[in-house]
Amino acid sequence: MATPQSDLDKRKQISVRGIAQVENVSNVKKTFNRHLHYTLVKDRNVSTPRDYYFALAHTVRDHLVSRWIRTQQHYYEKDPKRVYYLSLEYYMGRSLSNTMINLGIQSACDEALYQLGLDIEELEELEEDAGLGNGGLGRLAACFLDSMATLGMAAYGYGIRYEYGIFAQKIRNGEQVEEPDDWLRYGNPWEKARPEYMIPVNFYGRVEDTPKGKKWVDAQTVFAMPYDSPIPGYKNNVVNTMRLWSAKSPCNFNLQFFNDGDYIQAVLDRNLSENISRVLYPNDNFFEGKELRLKQEYFMCAATLQDIIRRYKSSKFGSSNPIRTSFDAFPEKVAIQLNDTHPSMAIPELMRIFLDLEGLTWAQAWSISTRVFAYTNHTVLPEALERWSVSMLEHILPRHLQIIYEINHHHLQNVAKKWPGDMGRMSRLSLIEEHGDKRVNMAHLCIVGSHAVNGVAAIHSEIIKRDIFRDFYELSPEKFQNKTNGITPRRWLLLCNPALSDAIAERIGEDWVVHLDELAKLKNLTKDAAFVRAVQTAKQENKMRLAKQLEEEYKVKVNPSSMFDIQVKRIHEYKRQLLNCMHIITQYNRIKANPGGSFVPRTIMIGGKAAPGYHTAKQIIRLICAVANVVNNDPIVGDRLKVIYLENYRVTLAERIIPAADLSEQISTAGTEASGTGNMKFMLNGALTIGTLDGANIEMMEEMGRENIFIFGMTVDEVEALKCRGYNAWDYYNSNPELRQCVDQIQNGFFSPNNPDQFKDLVNILMNHDRFFLFADYDSYIKCQDEVNELYLKPNEWAVKCIMNIASSGKFSSDRTIAQYGREIWGIEPSWEKLPAPHEPKDDEAK
Ligand SMILES: *Cc1c(COP(=O)(O)O)cnc(C)c1O
Repeated sequence: MATPQSDLDKRKQISVRGIAQVENVSNVKKTFNRHLHYTLVKDRNVSTPRDYYFALAHTVRDHLVSRWIRTQQHYYEKDPKRVYYLSLEYYMGRSLSNTMINLGIQSACDEALYQLGLDIEELEELEEDAGLGNGGLGRLAACFLDSMATLGMAAYGYGIRYEYGIFAQKIRNGEQVEEPDDWLRYGNPWEKARPEYMIPVNFYGRVEDTPKGKKWVDAQTVFAMPYDSPIPGYKNNVVNTMRLWSAKSPCNFNLQFFNDGDYIQAVLDRNLSENISRVLYPNDNFFEGKELRLKQEYFMCAATLQDIIRRYKSSKFGSSNPIRTSFDAFPEKVAIQLNDTHPSMAIPELMRIFLDLEGLTWAQAWSISTRVFAYTNHTVLPEALERWSVSMLEHILPRHLQIIYEINHHHLQNVAKKWPGDMGRMSRLSLIEEHGDKRVNMAHLCIVGSHAVNGVAAIHSEIIKRDIFRDFYELSPEKFQNKTNGITPRRWLLLCNPALSDAIAERIGEDWVVHLDELAKLKNLTKDAAFVRAVQTAKQENKMRLAKQLEEEYKVKVNPSSMFDIQVKRIHEYKRQLLNCMHIITQYNRIKANPGGSFVPRTIMIGGKAAPGYHTAKQIIRLICAVANVVNNDPIVGDRLKVIYLENYRVTLAERIIPAADLSEQISTAGTEASGTGNMKFMLNGALTIGTLDGANIEMMEEMGRENIFIFGMTVDEVEALKCRGYNAWDYYNSNPELRQCVDQIQNGFFSPNNPDQFKDLVNILMNHDRFFLFADYDSYIKCQDEVNELYLKPNEWAVKCIMNIASSGKFSSDRTIAQYGREIWGIEPSWEKLPAPHEPKDDEAK
């Protein structure tokens, strides 16, 4: 259990992790021992490693508490404009290490645990990931919370406290198997339940016309119980709140059963209403249209808006008139950002509160509401756009459906004024889709109900204006903006890559942690042999560490001097893991055709979860595993090609894998990946990218220069042109022998000898209805991979390009993204000023 001294020295080199002052170390030790005794109720003889993890987590949490309380007091006293980020997903990962880093107490904790004879890294491994997200969208929300706290914004993240997060993926016999993610099993030391702020949320019932207006009656009530988690800024004494709602039955739920004598049934039924916050829907970029999901979305919005209005009313401004609250100042005090359309029911819900409960006129309510909301679009894939059926809405939220119809009525009146008699345009702009069973287009509702609409990368924001929301752009061009995504450099460099962080800090100091543009200074160091070597050494250390872990966990031997070629992201047809797989097969065939030839050795790793109901994505995983099985067991191949399926890709695995990557695969069909954020993580960690001109790849190329990235394939415009003239996969198949061989092998069972028909469906898609044009980009992809190989043979040139990647990644800090949201959408200036540090009571004073 003892930490080797060498590791400890390494972690102390950089002062960003704080200075291990004797006094701090001794305080940490005292607090740790106190928690072991009083919180865990254990002594050292019977403590398990998990007890030690919880004792440490509570010790670190103690350091947050005063800052958290004082930050919230500060907001109450200053009453700044608040930002409310509404998201159905927060993909937070672990909190312990991130909290120590942001508080600057990592070195003190390292040293204290070392002195106690404990291995802090081993304890960190016992923390469950908070996996309340599917992929990029949920991780973006997590990065944004970190940046908003670091930029001193009075921000709140609101969402759902799912009892089960994203499933754990097991690979069994080359197939995905899902296991429930029971992440709260051992308790969550980072959350604080707040039963005193419980809020009622209604469903079902009907609308009654009364002399005083509409009334929603006979509804069923579920309570929303808030759980707060701290969000510390980076060394600025700011601690914001993420408030997640959990469903609770009311005390008298189904009391009528009780009166009928079925007490047991009444108690059992309580659980049913608590199902609302039971489990995260595991779809990425796919709309399922299930009733429980609609309830989740509304549950979160309703509870959150009541909380926002309660806070507005209790603020100095809102409470100035105790008789009746004026909401005139609401837009100056509140900004609400909708992370995709998932929280779109917040728009009719705020209107309902204003109209039915607060007595505002339609004009007043609409004017205030539209100045508060802003909407971020995350995808242009039609199957991902939320379109709730009118009949389901009518059943579950009858009053909201009425309000949506009225919003549509006013909206279409405006359209008719601008384009009289243009019925086609009216129908395209309507919130209601009339063909087939009637649906509400939630993106349309969000655009109409917001003052700002943004895409998440420059190209994506252009596509929105040109294609999917073209009519809305023509109606209100002033609403449309771009906010290119970003990632937090705290987690995605400082925390996950200490070796590279140290190498950088040694040359340019530590300002880059909060001003990532500072990394541009590294551009001057590409000819500095010692620095180039330091970057290479950091990468090699990270690769060795990963190789060791892969050997321990999967019993696979990997050659750490081979190129680590990595594609990790959700499995989806548009992300084209199949194209990567076709490159693997092609490389394999080339080695087999020329056994004595010299090939640049590669370890190709692919990881990611498939939605449990997405058959094609699951088949893609099976194919990759089947190919891996053939390639890895062919003695001719040796260690020139290895293929590894990385099981259970999640935030914590990303933190281990990305720092070890040489090559990052970002190969979506141009026009389909809204931004990507995985691409940015790899760039920041000194991997080179092979990618298409899609999403943020384009802006990455602009920042680093065309010569520092491997670009292949069609552009968005070329994809459009191909769609127009008609795509025929057979043409490519017939004219490219390597492609044909590879497809034939998949087709005829070469990789699935026990089940030769296994991959017929996949091949049928590729040949006959491929929406993502894999064969059209195949040739260009393979040629580009050959260029990658050539460069890998020149380690120095490769390393210089790595440095150019790192040095050009400043733009992709989520601090930059959030500063732009603040200035251009929310009306809030970022601030790097610190709050005063609280007086930290010494452990013995506290008693
Ligand atoms: C960053 C991240 C993603 C997003 O990756 P993309 O390549 O942009 O799709 C998905 N999952 C996890 C765990 C991540 O950390």
